[in-house]
Amino acid sequence: MILPIVAYGHHQLRARCKTVSPDYPLLPQLITNMWQTLYGANGCGLAAPQVNVPLRLFLVESQSTFDLLSPEEQTALFPEGAGIRETFINPEITARSAETWEEEEGCLSIPGLRASVTRPWSITIRYEDAAGTQHTRTFSGLTARMIQHEYDHLEGRLYLDYLAPIKRKLMARKLEYIRTGRFHAPYPMK
Ligand SMILES: [Zn+2]
Repeated sequence: MILPIVAYGHHQLRARCKTVSPDYPLLPQLITNMWQTLYGANGCGLAAPQVNVPLRLFLVESQSTFDLLSPEEQTALFPEGAGIRETFINPEITARSAETWEEEEGCLSIPGLRASVTRPWSITIRYEDAAGTQHTRTFSGLTARMIQHEYDHLEGRLYLDYLAPIKRKLMARKLEYIRTGRFHAPYPMK
């Protein structure tokens, strides 16, 4: 089932999410619905608060982006040599590289806008996958960027928070349109 994605201005996007209990009975259905929602919106990541569920859970789908790039871009942006399609439950970023880079980001909750954000090049993250298996993995490049963007959602942070005030000011009018529902996204929103 495709779930509506909450838009910029919704309180859930500013809440700190709660740990997912291992016996949460609706978890498999929620994960299935979130994947359908992500693919329906043609996105590369989706966090539970974006579908109005305040739990520490997100998806990252960087493989589709990898597949679209030239071999040179793949080498530059995907040091792992491939993308991922992964469910991250109760994730914790345990290390961030000192090296940073800047790249444009968008967000399904902020349709029609993009901006450059500086983030660490690589991160190490501990998480459970959809089968409940624990992992500690290091990711770099675009996959690491997508993970950090989604992880921020669990903390109530948006990419907008990293922008210089002048840049944010330039986006203010469009943000206000989104906040007040005066926008069109090619996927269900509320
Ligand atoms: Zn987002």
